[in-house]
Amino acid sequence: MNCQICGNPKLPEESTLCERCTLSTFQIFEILEIYLKENPIPIWLANTVQELAWLYKQYPRTMGYFNTALEVVETFLFMGKDLISIDGISEVNYTTLPRDNVLSLLEEALIIERNGDRISPGKLVKKLQEARWEGYQMDTPEMENKLLEMHGILVVALTKSLLRSGNYLPRQPLAIFHMLSGQILASGEKIDPILPDYIIESSTGGLSSRQISRIVRSMAGLGDGKTKIISDITPDYEKPLKDIIIEYCEKMRERYRERERERER
Ligand SMILES: [Zn+2]
Repeated sequence: MNCQICGNPKLPEESTLCERCTLSTFQIFEILEIYLKENPIPIWLANTVQELAWLYKQYPRTMGYFNTALEVVETFLFMGKDLISIDGISEVNYTTLPRDNVLSLLEEALIIERNGDRISPGKLVKKLQEARWEGYQMDTPEMENKLLEMHGILVVALTKSLLRSGNYLPRQPLAIFHMLSGQILASGEKIDPILPDYIIESSTGGLSSRQISRIVRSMAGLGDGKTKIISDITPDYEKPLKDIIIEYCEKMRERYRERERERER
């Protein structure tokens, strides 16, 4: 049998996923678990999810999910509403994705709860409602970071529910998680600060060369002037990871090892 996500034929015993995909799904589940449970949310995690905020906005196939999620969350967070009717959401009626499909995905992502044709905030949105939004004016850098964090956590939540639903593989977000997994697995005691091209290549399997080049250009900040995950592309074409990403990789690796130790016990 091959890995259910990437098709890699090398699987650890009694597993349906290869080592890298196991670590990638671990990251996705762990980010959401920490986000829902911990108060306040650890800085290293908040910083990292901000780096993921761009992922669904760029791709036509996932934009419908993301835009609907965003509209619903913004309505709950900023318009002071706790119950909205499905007909009142414009994005879900705008996208060509089947409406029920989008809504069940948002439900699975803990973004909404459905009751007939009404929706109320799911667990994740309730958590976002606890954040100190009121303290910041809309035009401050703190608010910009908070919004990025919100977009980022929606990306992670949607990735998890798309993986669960099995209908569509979110390859772009997975590519980023695979890069981080690849870096963690290839590093020695310290996380290697340079993201090598072979990890980028092996993480983007299944994507066209145009899609890969878009991901790398976005990471380099060429679209909006802000780098993501990496801090630079040096004159030698090296791609150093941001310090916050190195810290994230260290923390995730620690948690992953902890879980493996627990399983062995
Ligand atoms: Zn795999």
